[in-house]
Amino acid sequence: MIETPLIFVATSDIAGITRGKAFPLADFKKRLKHGVGWTPTNVQITCFDVIADSPYGALGDLLLIPDETTSVDVDFEDNTAPERFVMGDITTLEGEPWECCTRTILKTALDRLKTAGGVSLLSAFEHEFQLKSETPSKGKAYSLAGFSDRRALGETLMAALEKTGIQTDSFMKEYGREQYEVVVGPDQGVRSADVAVILRELTRATARKYGDEATFCPILDPDSVGNGVHIHMSFLNPDGTPATYDEAGTAGMSSLTGSFIAGVLKYLDSIIALTAPSAISYLRLTPHRWSAAYNNLGFRDREASVRICPITATDPKKKARQYNFEFRAADAAASPYLALAAIIHAGTQGIEDKLPAPSVTEEDLSVLSEKELEDRGYTRLPQSLEEALSRFENNKKVRNWFPDGFSDVYLAHKRGELKCVTDLNDVERCAKYSDAY
Ligand code: GLU
Ligand code: MG
Repeated sequence: MIETPLIFVATSDIAGITRGKAFPLADFKKRLKHGVGWTPTNVQITCFDVIADSPYGALGDLLLIPDETTSVDVDFEDNTAPERFVMGDITTLEGEPWECCTRTILKTALDRLKTAGGVSLLSAFEHEFQLKSETPSKGKAYSLAGFSDRRALGETLMAALEKTGIQTDSFMKEYGREQYEVVVGPDQGVRSADVAVILRELTRATARKYGDEATFCPILDPDSVGNGVHIHMSFLNPDGTPATYDEAGTAGMSSLTGSFIAGVLKYLDSIIALTAPSAISYLRLTPHRWSAAYNNLGFRDREASVRICPITATDPKKKARQYNFEFRAADAAASPYLALAAIIHAGTQGIEDKLPAPSVTEEDLSVLSEKELEDRGYTRLPQSLEEALSRFENNKKVRNWFPDGFSDVYLAHKRGELKCVTDLNDVERCAKYSDAY
């Protein structure tokens, strides 16, 4: 019997790490108002726990305030303490939003989308991860044997998600070695990113119950496939009707969807520093790994940065509801709040500028010459974090989508992280990142 149950209030920070503090559950009501104390420089703690250059130094105080709607309380019924945490927002002592609060940054992006497009976002994060221990059926991609090896883990995880009110969809043995995928249903607004954090943490917790370790590291082996985070998106009108699909639009896109995706692709080279933000993310984002290498929209094509997903409905109303597209150039080194915020800002810029719908590809772009790519308006995505960061740094418009001061902090953080891996080769980098994620 635990005398003083604790609950952990968390932020998913620039490093994409879930950090925070625990307090007695009995104080929950009080803490909903006053939060817990937080320190500005914590935002510069990289995924390797080395602190990058911080403009805040040792100064300042903030509050991390729990949002009750995100509470997780999962008892694994194995005589250990329940997994109990809640996501929060970071504010100043006066209750103003803090410039580096990733969750607030997402809320601002969602508001901008609502103002410009008149819609709210429905989204879902599809996660791939790998288990560090090896089973007898290692490598059996999509097989029943590979699934059965981890059936108990999968069932425990799905039950934990459901207890948290998360709508489960599927669990499968992915292609890579000890690689699995977990899919959940869509949620509106900031909730999908809350769910993404909860899912990562419950997956890690479940793996630990089985004496294992789950890693969401973007790639574990430079010669194999990576662990992607595919972000599925669709739009809802204020009356709840779908706004993503138009039978007459290119590949079924409504004009709003077309402009949004055009914006995402236009600014992709500058936002990728936030969606695929580790040094090894760029090993994954190479052709023929079913990830993303060019700024293209694919129609049911798994090598596109944005993909229009298949639908099974034939009835027009049901089709409109099922229709969605996914962003594939993201991974779990990114805080889901920041990745989604960056995508929404880029897409909303496309709506504001009334960009025309992009054409869709259904082919291997890696066989085209540079000239052919250029003629068709495609560019190879940045091939290193350094390059991605300088695209972000040099794109003033993109930086201005974020609160004052945020982009300088972000750049300093990521450059501090890069310093930790400068002297390592790709294999060593993957190993180091696999301990962080
Ligand atoms: N593992 C691939 C990635 O890194 C995705 C495979 C799939 O299409 O599910 O994104
Ligand atoms: Mg997959």
